[in-house]
Amino acid sequence: MKTSRHSLILSNLLAAMLSIVALPAAAWSNHALGTWQALSGTLASDKTADVRVESLASFLHTEGRALESLLQQEEQWARANVPEYPQRPDNIAYRSTPDATQNTKKFIAALRINPHAKLPLYLQLQPGADARDKRLLPWSEVTMLQHSMSVINAQFIRLQENETVAALDVVASASDEPDYGLDLGLWNNNPNAQTLGYGFGKQPFGNPALEYSTQAPFHMGFFHESPIVYQAAGFLRRTYPEYRIHLYQTLSRHAFSTGHAYWGWRFAGWALHYVQDLTQPYHTTVLPGVSVPRMLWINALDLMGFHDSKRDVIMLVSNRHAALENYQYRRMRAAYLRKDHEDALLRAIQATTTMPASPAQPYSPSQVRQRISLQSHAAANDTDAMLEHVLPAKYISDPHYILGETEPDLDMLTVLASLTPEQQTRMTNTVADLMKNFGAHSRTFMQAMLPLSSAQK
Ligand SMILES: [Zn+2]
Repeated sequence: MKTSRHSLILSNLLAAMLSIVALPAAAWSNHALGTWQALSGTLASDKTADVRVESLASFLHTEGRALESLLQQEEQWARANVPEYPQRPDNIAYRSTPDATQNTKKFIAALRINPHAKLPLYLQLQPGADARDKRLLPWSEVTMLQHSMSVINAQFIRLQENETVAALDVVASASDEPDYGLDLGLWNNNPNAQTLGYGFGKQPFGNPALEYSTQAPFHMGFFHESPIVYQAAGFLRRTYPEYRIHLYQTLSRHAFSTGHAYWGWRFAGWALHYVQDLTQPYHTTVLPGVSVPRMLWINALDLMGFHDSKRDVIMLVSNRHAALENYQYRRMRAAYLRKDHEDALLRAIQATTTMPASPAQPYSPSQVRQRISLQSHAAANDTDAMLEHVLPAKYISDPHYILGETEPDLDMLTVLASLTPEQQTRMTNTVADLMKNFGAHSRTFMQAMLPLSSAQK
């Protein structure tokens, strides 16, 4: 890989692959299902942690001035600590203003999230929860997405200012919120994004015309590819979960320490989302199961006019990514509906001492790169191989099948039920191991926040 021509070849190949691979960029589907389990039994589930609901406008009205300097410090932190960080332009730095609507707009711009973000006062209900006498909120009031199965199947309720709710419900609901559109369409070359002036630059990978793929570089962390891959495809360095996590963690800490516990838990949930995304192997590895030499060979064939291999490998990786999430989501949702908290996946998330080779280490920002994403990256090839061996070939080895599209109602749980007990066990064990990491990292991260939250209401 010495010539720029080779670099260009690999770069083009990866760009083409990523435009497809990045499509199902929700990582785990419905993070709330995992967060409820991960944080049950912690302070978040304690009655004393109940919080009073507060609107964003009210929070900003009280804390606006303090947030100006806090966000300025945060920007300095990001510039110094996030590799390849796209600086926030100074002209959108947060300046509080007495006009509540303008104040919220300015805050959203300073966070550089989608200006159409709805941010209602709401909670998600657990699957199977009794929704009678509840103020149901249509899913379209919560999300900008049109096709997310897990959002459409979820139930949401509207909250009123000043009512009291359980902290666990706030943080669990918020942990799914970054998948409702906060990071959609922010790149300079996305439709209608020029006027935002967010300064993120051109979308590093994924198809800029496809809405859901535009959030991928914030929800994925490609930190552990081989040097040759980065040399060829420098754009893979431009993934920013570290920026999102630290930003929301900082806001959460401030909210807790100034008596705005509702926003403390909600911002913590936003940060938690990105931590959890990085426990998904397909979010920390560009192409699980595909070696760099194989990528080059496939690309060489492509250049000679044989396009099938390239198209096929893209489709297979995409299908496996989607198959894993379909199974995780359907199984966890079914367990909630049965009220079966002994289900292997739910139990794995709850376990407290099971993360492999993990002496308890307090959370620090460097863990995002050096520990959380490294673990799931290390599991990527085995996870991919397991899916290949266990699931019927149609779903993960047939490039003409598009998982989630060919059969929109495909339920991997039903598929699994038709397989041998041994195959079912392999699937359960692999996904349970990933869920252990999901749970353990969620708790470790929240432990960095909880001491601040105990005294405030
Ligand atoms: Zn996500």
